[in-house]
Amino acid sequence: MTKKKKKQRSKSRVEILQNHKRVGKKFIPPLLQYPEGKISLVNWYRDFLPEFLWIALLCDQQGYRAAVDNAVKLSDIVNSVVRDTKQKCGFCSASDYLSISSDERAELIPKIDHGLRTVLDPCLGTILKFYPDFPMGWLVSGKWMSETSMGLEGLEGIKNAVRTRTDRFSKPAMECQVLAWFMDCKSGKIKFPAGMDIPDPNLISEYPETDRSRAMAARVRALLKAFAGMREQKSDWVSSFWRQSFEISPCEYPSEDIVHGLPEAKDLTGILEIGAQFSSEGRTELRDLWNKARIDPYEPARTNVVAGLLARSLQFASDIAQNPYLWRMPIGAILIRCMVETEIRLQWLIKCGKKEDFKEYIDFGLGQEKLLVEHYKRISQSDRPDQQMILDDIEQREAWINSQLYSFLLPVDIGGGAQGKDLRTLAEEADVLDLHRLVYSPLSSYIHGHWNAIARLNLSRCLNPLHGGHYLPELPQRPTSFSCALDAVNSYANCYELVSMALTGAIVESQAALNYIKDLGPAFEAILEQAD
Ligand SMILES: [Zn+2]
Repeated sequence: MTKKKKKQRSKSRVEILQNHKRVGKKFIPPLLQYPEGKISLVNWYRDFLPEFLWIALLCDQQGYRAAVDNAVKLSDIVNSVVRDTKQKCGFCSASDYLSISSDERAELIPKIDHGLRTVLDPCLGTILKFYPDFPMGWLVSGKWMSETSMGLEGLEGIKNAVRTRTDRFSKPAMECQVLAWFMDCKSGKIKFPAGMDIPDPNLISEYPETDRSRAMAARVRALLKAFAGMREQKSDWVSSFWRQSFEISPCEYPSEDIVHGLPEAKDLTGILEIGAQFSSEGRTELRDLWNKARIDPYEPARTNVVAGLLARSLQFASDIAQNPYLWRMPIGAILIRCMVETEIRLQWLIKCGKKEDFKEYIDFGLGQEKLLVEHYKRISQSDRPDQQMILDDIEQREAWINSQLYSFLLPVDIGGGAQGKDLRTLAEEADVLDLHRLVYSPLSSYIHGHWNAIARLNLSRCLNPLHGGHYLPELPQRPTSFSCALDAVNSYANCYELVSMALTGAIVESQAALNYIKDLGPAFEAILEQAD
């Protein structure tokens, strides 16, 4: 690499991921550079909601204002029996109740008056019925538990309490957070400057319409997150809640009408016709170009390779243009990526390739074939039902290799590529690095099935709110996009221009591609206008 190029490369690295720390081939974001355990990221739905579930249910059963009164009443009673001053808090999280000793519990229970009892039992009892590990279960009266029978339909209240609060910004979720915060304020856990009153929790009833309610909501969300990070006492309640939820309620799949995209039940005649026309015009113009090309029959390696790569590009583009079923992910992305790889290779061979590079390209491919033949020979030595078929195949393949170069003269390269360089290097040297960065690399996720591809294309969220939003192996809707056909035909058009320049000395545009691009929009619109 030249000094200038090295400089350009390091400069472009600086522009992105600037604040990341490089460790080997990974770039570590600033927040993850802290020593392990120093930073905890909490998720409202997963980490907070199980703790505040009882508040949520209380709000749903009693209405917000009554829930505030009763929750604060309970918090006051608990603080009146807790002896360790360090323990005093709002007791808004279910796990806070684990730390109350048996003596304190015995002292506390009689302090719950009849009014509060009739509110707490149906709320906490409902949760206890389904979650035996519920840390507030000891507050429920044994009488209520034994006298109340509850089928699985009773779970609906809990499910609804969670469903309506999965979004942290929703009004029910905000009420829940404000109430928890208010309990902490009243208990003195959250301190206010002298002379400043604790804001009225009922202000949140104006949320999100008024400025003051939105300001309150923002402040409460920030405070609760900060408190969660500082919480010393960790309990197993949160993980136990999710695991038990999975045991007692089934997954919920997305509705059945998963649409597979545009082509189904549509008349595709127009699209198919222009695809066929492109294919036919493309073949004609390829012949015309070759008639004008300067070919050296004595050393044809260069034009042989270029011809093959350009024809491959046209073949892909034709197949895609004639099959709208391919215009969706991941198959569309995989095909386009093959085309872009061909385009980058062609760019490099034409701009940078020397005579020996074309020979090397051919030798590499023949070497791959020879390697396969060697493996076939190895397995054909053992007795197997398909032995004769393998022997025939070996004979055919060897004859094909020998028709080009004697097999015994052929080196086998088990390295990564024809030019002994990876595709990124080829793209950089051919000055088409952005084609690699912005098109080829992102599409690679679809080939390898990286998470960013499979999470979009192969998974759907479980709709049961008690399941935390895990994924199900369900195929979500995939739109059919005509940009797939455009990308394919454009890639071919680029290759065509490049080759025309290299072989004839003049840049010629692909008329087949121009015609297709002109006709595709109206053809696609005609399909969209068709009634479902
Ligand atoms: Zn599920």
